[in-house]
Amino acid sequence: METVYTWVITIAVSSVILGVYVRKFLVERKSATERKAEARALGIDRPRSQYPFINTSLCIGCGTCTMVCPEGDVIGIVHGVATIINGERCVGHGACEKECPVGAIKVGLGDVRSRPDIPVLSKTMETTVPGIFIAGELSGISLIRNAVSHGKLVIDTIADRVRSQGLRHEYAAIIVGAGPAGITAALRAQELGLRYLLIDQDDLGGAIRHYPRNKLVMTQPLDLPLYGQLKKDEYSKEFLVELWDQLRTKISGSFHGNEKLIGVSLDPQGFVVATNRATYACANVLMAIGRRGTPRQLNVDGEELPKVMYQLVDARSYSGRDLLIVGGGDSAIEAAVGLARQANNRVTISYRRDAFYRIKKKNENAVTKLMQTNKIKVVFDSQVKRIGSDKVVLVTKSGEVTLVNDYVFIFAGGDPPYEFLKGMGIQFGGEKKEPSRSSTASPLTL
Ligand SMILES: Cc1cc2nc3c(=O)[nH]c(=O)nc-3n(C[C@H](O)[C@H](O)[C@H](O)COP(=O)(O)OP(=O)(O)OC[C@H]3O[C@@H](n4cnc5c(N)ncnc54)[C@H](O)[C@@H]3O)c2cc1C
Repeated sequence: METVYTWVITIAVSSVILGVYVRKFLVERKSATERKAEARALGIDRPRSQYPFINTSLCIGCGTCTMVCPEGDVIGIVHGVATIINGERCVGHGACEKECPVGAIKVGLGDVRSRPDIPVLSKTMETTVPGIFIAGELSGISLIRNAVSHGKLVIDTIADRVRSQGLRHEYAAIIVGAGPAGITAALRAQELGLRYLLIDQDDLGGAIRHYPRNKLVMTQPLDLPLYGQLKKDEYSKEFLVELWDQLRTKISGSFHGNEKLIGVSLDPQGFVVATNRATYACANVLMAIGRRGTPRQLNVDGEELPKVMYQLVDARSYSGRDLLIVGGGDSAIEAAVGLARQANNRVTISYRRDAFYRIKKKNENAVTKLMQTNKIKVVFDSQVKRIGSDKVVLVTKSGEVTLVNDYVFIFAGGDPPYEFLKGMGIQFGGEKKEPSRSSTASPLTL
């Protein structure tokens, strides 16, 4: 009798455990399928740069890849196999490839010949216009460690040329963009005694400076010129920002912040680089400007005030404030929701259309809830006319509206740099043309 009881209890307990597991599996599968469909509809399932290639005939659907991805929602299990859900989020860590128990994942760029957003580059990261190089994420390959090795490689190549051909210009290289690729290039140029200039429309740090507070940055041991090794696999965003600030002293005379590249034109044997402040003659240009492009501006009075921002780094820094979010896409809604959840903020969204279109369901639900409880006000069919130090004027269908305001966050999209580079004669997507300097004959603007 005792044996029968033992069996009954064992079967009952096993059934409960199995039931919980099966239910969890079905819920996750349904959610991944829905997220996949939504991401496809919104066009965010396609990756920006590296992404996981999944060999579905090897995949056993164990979900390890979904659990180890540091960026979250990149892969999901759909119909029993790993599937890319939110490809734009992949930054190429490769944890899925490393941890997949059956070797079904390879992280790479795919067939770049058909990618109109990936420039054609030589082994030394030179574009099809000799003398113009690309480093870092703009090459289609993300991650800090890759940006660092590109930056060094390009400067070593330029230094070799200067050694063998001499230098007839003021600068051996103008480095545009002070993210990890540009900073490393500048440090290496400094170390080698090359004449160079590093410019950035913002400050030193690139994408890292804008990561959310306390973000854990995964990397692999790095060797930074004039600094030495970064040996750990993980650093906080704050550590890296502080590090860039320390490195500033090593290159300070050659770094220009708040200076934006606006055009490059040909000069005999070199280039003239035009910025919003000056023009520089140089033998080589290193474009290390990332892939995100320049945030679109509203071009209204007061937009230059320091209270106006184009991204939200940390919602927790704002409480008890009057805040205006401009835009109606996912980034705008996510910022508005994050800010409305902080104590005593008064959040208004100004959007030029009459409703939110094509935003993620999760964001739509969150903003609707906060609108119903009056934590977010939305002024549809409106545009910003003027920004003052303590107010903002909107134009609406029923006339002008003045809002009390402490900060403005503008999410009006960005202009990716591809057209600018293509205009310089740099080939993308593997079109076959002979390298040429004549194709950059006219000045180009970004
Ligand atoms: C949210 C997020 C999380 C990430 N997490 C990780 C991680 O954990 N580990 C990791 O290794 N990588 C991570 N990455 C990727 C990593 O940040 C990038 O691969 C890396 O920053 C690329 O460096 P970069 O120098 O090529 O470009 P960026 O860092 O993008 O820097 C480009 C610079 O160019 C400047 N610029 C652009 N246009 C102009 C212009 N016209 N004139 C002058 N300057 C200009 C910009 O202001 C910017 O400072 C993450 C990325 C994001 C967005």
